[in-house]
Amino acid sequence: MSIPTELINRYPWLPSLKKHYSEIASRSPSMFISEVFSKDFGSDLKERLLDLFEAAFDNLEEISDYKSDRLNVYVYLLLNIFLYALDNQMITNRLANLYSKITYNELIKENNDANLYNICQDLGLKIRYYEPPINYGVNIVKDHHQKLETNFTIHFIDYLSLASNLRDEYRKLAHNSLLEGYVFIQNKRLIRLIQEYVRNKLLIKEAEDKESLKAFLKEVSDIKDFKEILEKVLNTWTERKEEFEYTFKINFESETELLTLFPPCVNEILKKTQEGQNLIHNERLFIVWFLLALEYPVEKVVDLFSTLPDFNREKTTYQVNYAKKKNYIPYKCLTLKSLNLCLAVKYKDELCLTGYGSVEPSERKKIAHPLFYTRIKKYRASRDENYKKKELAKENE
Ligand code: SF4
Repeated sequence: MSIPTELINRYPWLPSLKKHYSEIASRSPSMFISEVFSKDFGSDLKERLLDLFEAAFDNLEEISDYKSDRLNVYVYLLLNIFLYALDNQMITNRLANLYSKITYNELIKENNDANLYNICQDLGLKIRYYEPPINYGVNIVKDHHQKLETNFTIHFIDYLSLASNLRDEYRKLAHNSLLEGYVFIQNKRLIRLIQEYVRNKLLIKEAEDKESLKAFLKEVSDIKDFKEILEKVLNTWTERKEEFEYTFKINFESETELLTLFPPCVNEILKKTQEGQNLIHNERLFIVWFLLALEYPVEKVVDLFSTLPDFNREKTTYQVNYAKKKNYIPYKCLTLKSLNLCLAVKYKDELCLTGYGSVEPSERKKIAHPLFYTRIKKYRASRDENYKKKELAKENE
């Protein structure tokens, strides 16, 4: 099956890119970079790339004047090269999130089943298209009956491999209808799976072979535009790195850093959000309820999610406000253990593993709730602080 070039221009992450742009595939990266920047559209390319990095650093979900023309192919290829050259997992995560969200928005705006079908075909997905849409059940909300129908089904193996990182309950195979091994899927959810494909495609791991990276950087060091973009991105990164690294180094009450008071189950989720990794539904609920229980401000809780691939500020703000109103109690340790979210062993956390109270191991009490963990840690921190103060006062007497 041949996919139109125009579709490749809009979605250059498609496998057929190699076929349509075979002349690029035959060049070395340095040759490609120097040729592409010497064209009359070189400065436009530069601007688009810098806009993407800027938007990723600002944690935006889209770019207002994003263009999906032929230059898009060069932007995508250069973006991959820059991510390799930068060799920084945090920048890569942000860029991958932004780019995949842009892709999602473009596919949603397009609202074109034929293109969606062609894209799936090009990705090698086993997909079936139904015209008219096929009915696969009824959704009953209160007394309202809503007919479920879709044009698409996807083979369950492809469904599982695309949805493997999206572990929300409603995406589980058991919660979806199947016909002859094919899962019924609404367009929007299919596009969300494609978004995840694009995100993973950009998520190149940090270079293992640092010598090759060094050699590459040397090779391209005299390509003026490439060097300028790289330096600009690195400068911005240096200026703003603290903002990324310490996003969650939050102050609470008497300037105590909460992170040191949090249990592993909480810190793991915060680490994931910081790295822009996806969170499963239960992780999202737990972290929101936990932070709200500590009276963490709503807007700060919302900001926490802004690095995630499917972030939607309006929706998240609504959900966090709703949770605040409902005053939900965060999961206790037992529930977190049953959800595989307890990380006491992985983090070798002494308080979680050995409990508190008596020095006699058999008499020690177990931590039963992450909020209680924080309370004990806080108590211990203020006790140590008071002790230090007293010692200092004694010395000064
Ligand atoms: S024991 Fe409780 S507080 Fe500690 S990591 Fe496990 S769930 Fe979290």
